[in-house]
Amino acid sequence: MENCIFCKIIAGEVPAKVVYEDETVIAFEDINPVAPVHILVVPRKHIPTFNDIQPEDRELVGHLAWIIKEVAKQQNIDEKGYRVITNCGEDAGQVVFHLHFHLLGGRTFGHNLVGKS
Ligand code: 5GP
Ligand code: ZN
Repeated sequence: MENCIFCKIIAGEVPAKVVYEDETVIAFEDINPVAPVHILVVPRKHIPTFNDIQPEDRELVGHLAWIIKEVAKQQNIDEKGYRVITNCGEDAGQVVFHLHFHLLGGRTFGHNLVGKS
């Protein structure tokens, strides 16, 4: 997709600190981390938002969940715990319209799930 920053990272046109990749998924460090570990787990396929997941993507989304767990282990945050977030659309504050999951760890997050802007 033209003008999609994550498609450019996937194509190797924009650099990123990649921590994992396979045929369908790539994971790289967030450029503006909000936790000691802040990884973005991203399908290579350009799916704009969580709303745009199609029936044929179900295996891919399951694989993404598996890889999030594996990267948590690789980053040594699996035992202490971590948070997984996806922002869908305007109200959630989605900025990059290419599906991605934030994997956050290395600190505590408390119980505040509902930060207001
Ligand atoms: P969201 O769309 O879920 O609100 O957040 C997009 C995330 O992508 C942000 O946390 C932002 O820091 C990250 N991001 C935006 N542009 C780049 C980039 O060019 N490289 C990397 N590594 N992360 C980016
Ligand atoms: Zn894209």
